[in-house]
Amino acid sequence: MQNPNAIRQISVYQVNLPFSGFGSRWVGRAKPEFYDSTLVTVTTESGLVGVGESCPLGAIYLPAFAGGLRAAIAEMAPALLGEDATRINHIYRVMDAALFGHGYAKAAIDVACWDLLGQHCAQPVSSLLGGRHQDAIPVYAPIALRSPAEMVENVKGRQAEGFTRFQIKLGDDPLEDVERLRAVTAIGRKNDLFMADANRGWTQADALRALDGLNEIDCYVEQPCATYEQCKPVRARCRRPFILDEVIDGVPELARAIAENMLDALVIKVTHAGGLTPARQLRDLCLAQGLHMRIEDTAGTEVARAAQAQLAAATPLAPQLGCYTFINQMPPIATGAPEIRDGMLHLNRQPGLGLELRYDELDPPLAVYE
Ligand SMILES: [Mg+2]
Repeated sequence: MQNPNAIRQISVYQVNLPFSGFGSRWVGRAKPEFYDSTLVTVTTESGLVGVGESCPLGAIYLPAFAGGLRAAIAEMAPALLGEDATRINHIYRVMDAALFGHGYAKAAIDVACWDLLGQHCAQPVSSLLGGRHQDAIPVYAPIALRSPAEMVENVKGRQAEGFTRFQIKLGDDPLEDVERLRAVTAIGRKNDLFMADANRGWTQADALRALDGLNEIDCYVEQPCATYEQCKPVRARCRRPFILDEVIDGVPELARAIAENMLDALVIKVTHAGGLTPARQLRDLCLAQGLHMRIEDTAGTEVARAAQAQLAAATPLAPQLGCYTFINQMPPIATGAPEIRDGMLHLNRQPGLGLELRYDELDPPLAVYE
């Protein structure tokens, strides 16, 4: 008899997300017309449909881009058809055997399989990622790099909406950046938390100049320089908690960073990690080492938002610095997604990712493998 959980079909959709302008300097060179996101549905023989998403932030943020993602799925799809979607680790091995690397493409398939496993077990994905700790997770407000006065107004607006966590985009002139951070932290309330994120925008020398000021301000310092090696001397002289983000691709990089005392907190982006399966490993390593973490993603629709929220809901709250708000998508392509209220992301308790895809809002698939 046919295995009811065997993968019968994989469909690939393109979703263009409105481009709302960049908040950081790293992306000043190329402004896309929209964010090109890829949605993948995986259908089993029993008729269950799981969904996953991967939305690289354009083509120059990480070694990932939409065209490569869809080519990678085409490469892996023949090996996946007929495999049991609920055997999560096995599915990952099948993908690794078909294609080396390209975790951001595997992420969409992996998340869809977690969604299927949840539906199959009638449990939310969070229950399968360790069990749910809470139904709501704090969201942080990214504050775009502007003049200090504009950034203060932006923070005030988000404070009024209920946000208590703020990611302050820096990475410009180091001394002006210190002025920006001074201005916004001056209006911080007792429980407000500030993360100074240069998004790799400082040279090593820039970062060392900024540090004199940053060390005087209560904040986290996030990914100051482009490479791990450039971050090293900065970390050594930084008296504030240090966050690594873009330079940590997976468990081997995190293990090295832990061994070299290079971080106090990690940004876990579900698709950068390669999906919920490897993101869970990073989460567990952070928990075991007492590191703080942000569980989030690069960009995406309701689907990516739900995936990050499920992992965050299955992780104790204390070490979490906040989830990502995501780009506003109009109209929504799924119902049931976690909602942002009062600076918190609220999840439902439906099986899987808890989503209902709205096919009427999707263009026909770009590719169907069966
Ligand atoms: Mg960051």
